[in-house]
Amino acid sequence: MSRPSRGTISAAAAALARRYGRPRRARRRPLLDVLVETVLSQNTNDRNSHRAYLALRRRFPRWDLVMDAPVRAVAAPIASGGLANIKAVRIKALLSEFARRFGRPTLEPLRRLPAEDAYRYLLSLAGVGPKTAACTLLFGQGTPIFPVDTHIARISQRLGWARPGETPAAFQERFRRLVPDRLVLSLHLNLIAHGRAVCHPGRPACPACPIQRHCTWHHSKERS
Ligand code: SF4
Repeated sequence: MSRPSRGTISAAAAALARRYGRPRRARRRPLLDVLVETVLSQNTNDRNSHRAYLALRRRFPRWDLVMDAPVRAVAAPIASGGLANIKAVRIKALLSEFARRFGRPTLEPLRRLPAEDAYRYLLSLAGVGPKTAACTLLFGQGTPIFPVDTHIARISQRLGWARPGETPAAFQERFRRLVPDRLVLSLHLNLIAHGRAVCHPGRPACPACPIQRHCTWHHSKERS
């Protein structure tokens, strides 16, 4: 299929919402907080990254303190999220870039930009990929840009929405233009819930799947 119609996407989103619920609109948060938390979530699970984020905020209540601290002092509280030194360097570099551009470490000026410009600016930053940029805007200010994480990339391959071998970044760029704005948040969160509960990386529990009828992988297995 690889280019699902809006009808197919809407039908799948509705089936997932019946199973996993309709998430409420993301509450508005400082964009920089969301960006840092998303950087911390790279290569780890949500629980570890949230714990790392809370520990970082406890140790450094202001972002300028993180910017000016030695790498090892920033790496210590975020150790639970893994790759602590790499993430500490990355976060400090981002804070310095924002301070240079906006006069202090903040991303709030992005709210005044058109959404696409804000997205492109975030994408231009070292260490910020499409998922991180989209999550920052979706969860920071409700901008409907669809983020593709590892769960969503895997499920999309199985559904036949992503092309064989297509990278998550390339798929996100294509797919985000197909998802109706009103479905972005719920489809994103419910596909992640589906990846955790049913469409596992190893053996997906297809008999329990509410979007089985949309799935190329499942139909090809039935035929073989
Ligand atoms: S039918 Fe199976 S492989 Fe396809 S989306 Fe559902 S759980 Fe995943």
